[in-house]
Amino acid sequence: MLADDDFRAIYDLLDVGQTVDDAGRAVDCGIRCDKFCCRPDNTTKYLLPGERRFLDAALAARGRAPLACKDLYYFESLDEPPDRACACEPLRELRPFNCRVFPYSPALEGTRVVGLRKSKLQYLAPCWIDEPAPRWRDGAISAWQRVLDDVDGRLLFCRLGALWEWHQASERGEAAGHAVQAVASIDGTDEADTWARAARFFSRTD
Ligand code: SF4
Ligand code: SF4
Repeated sequence: MLADDDFRAIYDLLDVGQTVDDAGRAVDCGIRCDKFCCRPDNTTKYLLPGERRFLDAALAARGRAPLACKDLYYFESLDEPPDRACACEPLRELRPFNCRVFPYSPALEGTRVVGLRKSKLQYLAPCWIDEPAPRWRDGAISAWQRVLDDVDGRLLFCRLGALWEWHQASERGEAAGHAVQAVASIDGTDEADTWARAARFFSRTD
C-alpha cells in the first residue's frame, strides 16, 4: 500500500498546473464548466488505498476537518454533503489524487504507463479540457506509474472495472449478482491479470 511519502510525492508531481493557455499561463478549467466534475451528482471520487489514512492524519495535524471521507464498501470516497464546501475551498493542497489527475487516465503498454488518455464517456461531455500542459503530463505519467506499481492501487482499478461492468449489465437489464462474484474473484497475486483488468478499466467506453 502507498505510504505517506508516496502520497506527498504523487501530489507534488500533480501540483504544477494541469491546463495552460497559449501563453503558458495556468487556467482554472472549472470556470467554464461551473466545476462540473466537483459536483457530487456528476461524479464519484475514489480514494487510493492508504489515502484516507494519509488525509485523516494531515487533517488532524491542522486541527480542523474541511473534508471528510466515507466508505463505499468496495472503495473509499470523499463525503460531499451539499451544505459543506469540498476540500478545495478551504484546503486545496489536500485534494486527493483522483481530483488532481482527472480527467486523464493512463495509457498502458503492459506494465508501463506510456501516456495519458482523456475519457470520452458521454456523461463527462461537459469536461472541455483535452490536452494537459507538457510538464504536468510528464508528472502525471510518473504519478500513475507509482500508483499502479502498488498492487493495492492496481486492485482498486480492477474493482472499479468490475463495478463498471456491473453497472453496464444492469443498464442492459441483466441480473447483477455476477458483479459481486467478479469483484470477489479478483486475485491480487496474479500480477498479469491485475494489469490486464486495470487496462480494461482505463479503456472503457460507453
Ligand atoms: S477537469 Fe473538466 S469537468 Fe473538471 S473542472 Fe476541469 S474542465 Fe471542468
Ligand atoms: S476536492 Fe476539490 S477538486 Fe476534488 S471534488 Fe472537491 S472541490 Fe472538486
